[in-house]
Amino acid sequence: MKVLIVGSNGLVGKSLQGVLSKNNNISELISSKRTDADLFNFDETRQLLERTKPSILINAAARVGGIYANNTKRTEFILENLKINTNLLEASIPYSNMTIFNLGSSCIYPVDVENPIKESSVMTGKLERTNSPYAMAKLTAIEIGEAISKEYGHKIINLMPTNLYGPNDKFSEHDSHVIPGLIYRMHNAKINNDSSFKIWGTGKPLREFLYVEDLADAINFLIDSNVEDKLLNIGSGEEISIFNLALKIKEVVGYEGEVVFDSNMPDGIKRKLLDSSILNNLGWKPSTDLDTGLANTYKWFIDNI
Ligand code: GDP
Repeated sequence: MKVLIVGSNGLVGKSLQGVLSKNNNISELISSKRTDADLFNFDETRQLLERTKPSILINAAARVGGIYANNTKRTEFILENLKINTNLLEASIPYSNMTIFNLGSSCIYPVDVENPIKESSVMTGKLERTNSPYAMAKLTAIEIGEAISKEYGHKIINLMPTNLYGPNDKFSEHDSHVIPGLIYRMHNAKINNDSSFKIWGTGKPLREFLYVEDLADAINFLIDSNVEDKLLNIGSGEEISIFNLALKIKEVVGYEGEVVFDSNMPDGIKRKLLDSSILNNLGWKPSTDLDTGLANTYKWFIDNI
């Protein structure tokens, strides 16, 4: 098996490189980052596939960010993700023997969907407003993939992980997802001896988190398992409120002030717990609990700032 990872410099891509490099069934592992091939450019994307001719393509390339970035850079989130996905999928058309693992996100599911969210509820309702541009780009990729699969015969597996976190994430005040965002801001609050710390929104939304190494492990498992499912949820099965998550991060970081709420910031969807029973029944389960994952992530942050 010759595997090509695009988006190899990101949170998922970096972790995938580490995990897949230990898989003996993979004869060649090729990683491509933005400086190797610009996926916004169709010719560069086409040339990348022509040059590498992988038997498996893993699309981990995306413009990603947390609730604030998704909601304020709406144009960039839809256009950039559409470009990456349309270029990659169109460039893949001549290679019908190639298997494509296309990474999406749990935000593709409708805002009022029943929890735990099953794969079959895709496209059954309206999207949640704060990240609908990103979700729409990811849904479009699923639709294009389905068309290509039907017309040209490619095997395309769309993987929908829940909220991811871990080493190599984007740690910043405004652009991050909640875990790296809280780690970054609480660490600074500790250093500045701030007496209180504002978490965004009400703290009531529930989220499910998956350590990125577990996602990489799941993809490694799927590469070896010859799955037939076209859409697969990947979650940890455990959910926590944002307030309780903030308390855990407070402890990991060692911040001693009070946690208060910033009602000017959005909550986003109330709950998004994935039903990962299809994947679990295939024989895969995550192995990193939230406490261990948070401790590892904070250590990585400290070592890399
Ligand atoms: P979402 O899962 O797509 O909504 O994305 P996020 O990971 O960005 O946010 C999850 C939840 O955490 C939302 O309800 C946010 O309002 C809340 N939250 C609280 N504090 C923060 C923070 O410092 N950064 C981010 N990104 N979210 C925060």
